[in-house]
Amino acid sequence: MTAHTPLPWKRGGVFRAGTGWAEYIIGPCTSHDPTRIVCGLEDARMGKEMMEATAEFIVCACNAHADLVAALEGIHNFWVNGQRCWCPVEPESDDPVSAHATCHDARAALAKARGETA
Ligand SMILES: [Zn+2]
Repeated sequence: MTAHTPLPWKRGGVFRAGTGWAEYIIGPCTSHDPTRIVCGLEDARMGKEMMEATAEFIVCACNAHADLVAALEGIHNFWVNGQRCWCPVEPESDDPVSAHATCHDARAALAKARGETA
């Protein structure tokens, strides 16, 4: 898979566009690529505050993505049935749903973060 635009990304600042608002999310600039636009947001129905909140969410989520995935992968407690376990205490049951609810949630979150469909 081709790598995405390098991080960190930052907000370019909201500005007027037609009857609505717009903002660019920009990546690290280089001498060969002085203005690297990662994406542009524009919506005539979205208010300025929602446009800013949306841009802030995209930047924060994308910049934190790799760290969050690595942190979640790094907090396995122990091995259970050949798989890493995230559960806060050693499960007392072998029932995979009730005994490993935290593991289920953690694996689902990692799959979602990696773009893997269940
Ligand atoms: Zn578990």
